[in-house]
Amino acid sequence: MNECEKILGDFSASFWLKQALASALERDPVDALADAEVLSEVLRERLDRLCTQLYPPDLITARIVECPRGCNSHITKDPTPECAACGSRMYEPE
Ligand SMILES: [Zn+2]
Repeated sequence: MNECEKILGDFSASFWLKQALASALERDPVDALADAEVLSEVLRERLDRLCTQLYPPDLITARIVECPRGCNSHITKDPTPECAACGSRMYEPE
C-alpha cells in the first residue's frame, strides 16, 4: 500500500485531506505537486499573519501594572508608568 492509499484509507485523516488528495491523483503529477507546494506556502503565510494579529509584538511586551495606593491598575507598554489618579510610580505585581 503506498502513502496515498494509506491516507485515503485512514479514518483519522481529515475529509478535506482525502478529498484534496483524491482530486490531485486525477491530475498530472508534476502540476499537482507544484500546486500543492503553492497551497502549502500561502497557507503557512496565512497562519503566520493570523498569529501576528493575535499576538502582536507590542502586546507581548505589555504588562499589567498597579498603583501602590491601589487606585488604579491597567495594561501598559510604558516602562515607567504613573498612576493617572494620584501620580504614584506604578509597579508590576508578582
Ligand atoms: Zn494611584
